Amino acid sequence: MDQCVFCKIIKGEIPSSKVYEDDKVLAFNDINPEAPVHILIVPKTHVQSIMELDENGYNIIGHIFKVASDIAKNLKLDKRGFRIVNNIGEDGGQTVPHIHFHLLGGRNLQWPPG
Ligand code: AMP
Ligand code: ZN
Repeated sequence: MDQCVFCKIIKGEIPSSKVYEDDKVLAFNDINPEAPVHILIVPKTHVQSIMELDENGYNIIGHIFKVASDIAKNLKLDKRGFRIVNNIGEDGGQTVPHIHFHLLGGRNLQWPPG
């Protein structure tokens, strides 16, 4: 998608602070962090949300959770805990229409969200 900010990051047209990359996914630091650790993990193929995934897309989401657990372990978040968030659509608070998973940690996170 030409105008998608995350597609531009994936293509290297917009800089990002990269945390992890492979052929399927990219993880980078959120530009506006809400916690000491705030990483976004995105599939490299443009899909708006979980509502538009095909079979292969669902497999990549499983891979994203594996990547998230590896990142959490590397950052030593696994003992303290952390949170993975996926906002969907307007009521869900999604502002970038390219599916992404927030990995938040490094402080005690409150619940419920606003
Ligand atoms: P959401 O509100 O769930 O759609 O999350 C979008 C996230 O993308 C927000 O936390 C933004 O701070 C983040 N974001 C937007 N543009 C960039 C960018 N260029 N680099 C890194 N993070 C970004
Ligand atoms: Zn995109």
